[in-house]
This record gives sequence, structure tokens and C-alpha cells, in this order.
Amino acid sequence: MTTRLQRPACLSALIFFAVALPARAQQPSAPAPPAAGQAALSPEQARAKAVEDLVVANKVLVDLGVLDAYGHVSTRVPGDPKHFLMSRSLAPELVTPADILEHDLEGNATAPPGATLFNERFIHAAVYAARPDVQAVVHNHAPSLIPFGVSGVPLRPLYHMSAFLGAGVPVFDIRAAGGETDMLVRTLPLGQALAKTLGANNVALMRGHGAVVVAPDMPRAVFRSVYTEQNARLQAQAMQLSQKVTYLDAEEAKKAQTTMEGTVARPWELWRKKVQGK
Ligand SMILES: [Zn+2]
Repeated sequence: MTTRLQRPACLSALIFFAVALPARAQQPSAPAPPAAGQAALSPEQARAKAVEDLVVANKVLVDLGVLDAYGHVSTRVPGDPKHFLMSRSLAPELVTPADILEHDLEGNATAPPGATLFNERFIHAAVYAARPDVQAVVHNHAPSLIPFGVSGVPLRPLYHMSAFLGAGVPVFDIRAAGGETDMLVRTLPLGQALAKTLGANNVALMRGHGAVVVAPDMPRAVFRSVYTEQNARLQAQAMQLSQKVTYLDAEEAKKAQTTMEGTVARPWELWRKKVQGK
């Protein structure tokens, strides 16, 4: 009796799997719903999203120790490659959408009464002019980067997270470009000299000052800023342990960059939620 009762149950299960499994197997080939941010946006919506991402990026980079009261982040205006968005001169953690100003590629912008522009907006202007592929720029003074800009020790990718450094990290010496200065990139020619040093790379260090980090979108600009800083700390530690530090070779760096930057949506979502919950 028990056996008779079990048989129909087993049959039912078989029928269920026969129906359900093919349906499940078809799921991966079904069209995926548009991911967040990929849906077609109107120009106004795209600009609003760029502003929101820019505000988030400022706060994330403070939260993770890349920026403090100094440094700045920008993004190109969606659909308008000749302009970029950046806040008025302000500590990054305090930036709100109302503080974001549109700048042209010569660094011009109209500041509201009582506000000023960042002295070093020319970093961003010159990089956007020189690099059509760049959509987001971060300038920071992360302390762990400074030794690599003054010691002649090259910053090199130590682990998979910083594989985007594999193409090289040039060092900009403002003295070579502008003689004796206050170390700030406060003119367009100085910005152009920095952009020339950056070349096609993702990061350039600035002697006695900081770094510029570029990327084809804001999540990757933040990702690269965070992991450049972490790589610098780890590299300094490794060099204290041994004079024979093994770095990623060119092929490893290329493969690891593709893999790790393919996952950038994960940390971006986490970092965004952390700062928006504050
Ligand atoms: Zn600076």
C-alpha cells in the first residue's frame, strides 16, 4: 500500500522536473531586464543621475580615506563632451547637488555669489580635453601615495584589485613643467602638462602633491582611486618585508583588470548604500 502511494508521488515529482527543468534551463537565455542605470534616460534624467553619482562619489572617497577636506571629483556632462560637472570649492563630504557647477574644457564656470571655484579645476579640464575616453576624474592627496611620487620607487600592481595600474604609473613633476610653483595645478598649461604625463594611463602621481585617477565611468573612477591607495599601502609593507617583491606581470594585470573591473557594480552598490545611510 505504501509502495502504491509512493509511486504516484514519484511520478508527480518526475513530471514536475520534466516540466520545470527545461523552463529553468531557458532562463539564462531569456532577455535580461535592463540593469539599473542602463535604461534609456532623457537628457535631464541622465544629467540628474550624473550629479547624484558625483555627490555619492565624493562621500564614498571620503568614507574610504582617499579624500579628506581636499581633493575633488568630476564627471563629463552626459551627451556633452565639452563640459564637465564638479562642485564649487568645498570639502568633498559637504558636497550636495546644489553645489555642482558646469565647467568647460578651459576650466571656466560661473560660481554663484559667495562661492569660488576649485583652484585645480584645470586638472580636470585638461584631462577631459586630452582623453575622449575619460568620463570621470578624481584628484586626491591620499598620504600613502605621496612616497611613491618623491622616491623614484615606481608604484606597481601588487595584487589583482589594482591590476589597472599594470600599464604604468607616471610621475608628474610640476617643477619641470612650471618651474618654482606653490605645487598647485592652477593654470590650464599646467593641467595640460599633467595630462601629457598621464598619457593613456589610468593613474598619474604628482610629485609632492597627490594623484590624478581617470576612468570611463564614475564607479570605476572610485574603484581605481580606492585600490590605488590600497596598493600603495600594501606595496610599502611588502617592500619592508623583502627587496624581492613580485608584482603582477603585464598579462596577469590585463586579465585581472578585465575580471575585477567587471565586478565594479558590487562595491559601487555597497559604497553607495553606506554613504546614503548616513
Ligand atoms: Zn591638489
